Amino acid sequence: MPCTEYPVALKKGTNDLAEIKEVPNGKACNCYCFYCKGDLIAVNREENVVADHFKHYPGSNCSLSFETYLHWLTKKIFEKFDFIKLPAITFKDLYVKYWCFESPKIKKIRELFSKYNLPEEFRDIIQYEFDLNVSNQFKIELCTTEKRLKNEKDQIQPDILLKLNSMDLLVEPYVTSKINARKLGKIKEIDISTLSIDLNTFRKENKLEFTEEDLTNYLLLDSCKEWLYLSKSFREELFKEFMSLLEKRLNERISMVQDYANHESQIEINGKEMKSTQDTIEQLERKIRSLESVNSDLASKRRLCIRSIYSY
Ligand SMILES: [Zn+2]
Repeated sequence: MPCTEYPVALKKGTNDLAEIKEVPNGKACNCYCFYCKGDLIAVNREENVVADHFKHYPGSNCSLSFETYLHWLTKKIFEKFDFIKLPAITFKDLYVKYWCFESPKIKKIRELFSKYNLPEEFRDIIQYEFDLNVSNQFKIELCTTEKRLKNEKDQIQPDILLKLNSMDLLVEPYVTSKINARKLGKIKEIDISTLSIDLNTFRKENKLEFTEEDLTNYLLLDSCKEWLYLSKSFREELFKEFMSLLEKRLNERISMVQDYANHESQIEINGKEMKSTQDTIEQLERKIRSLESVNSDLASKRRLCIRSIYSY
């Protein structure tokens, strides 16, 4: 379905974004379509029954789709961003997607458990919950769109490539379908962290009635973003952070674990003491029995002796 009516267009001359509500009505709007480069007409009189919009001149054969339109506007808005807030990553996400297949990492976690002499009950890695600290704002050093990225075999064209101070980040907005397996495979080969952005929810909520600010506010939300891929170096950074958080937590809770260990060893000591007391009781009982028999022997010998004195 072509989408030849929309609410934000380009101003002739400056190429700035123009809002339908802020331009003169009709042909005087002085705006054009980014896709077919054709002139647009602003339909924004108060008496309009339909929502305000830009439309193409009669007879235009522009084949722009709404998906392409929303992609384009998202890119234009990203070009204006100075910062990006990345969605949180939990330890569990990383563990399930990547780390449980990496035995050196599992080994390091187990070594830390051993260092703290952690009882078996506390060694179930997946039970640990940590929000890793990526949800900070990252400064955008450079935003490029439509740039092709090459690896040895192939090339891909990401929608948006951001250079952050610590890493590169691809942003893939989608309306109908998330990234396809082929493109994701190439991203993994090129090894750049990638976020997807769900524009479908925005489309459903706003139809054609929205402003640049509405889409900007939507793009700032965490809820529209999802991690598609994390680069190896980013994962290493996150693993370091996880290990330091884990060590901090073990340190904080080591007294609790120590109490538990002390309790265990006390039970063992008490058991040994009980056994040794039991043994002592048995020895004493044997001694008493033997003394009793000695006593009774002596008593009978004494009686015999007395008797012999009298009968002598
Ligand atoms: Zn057009």
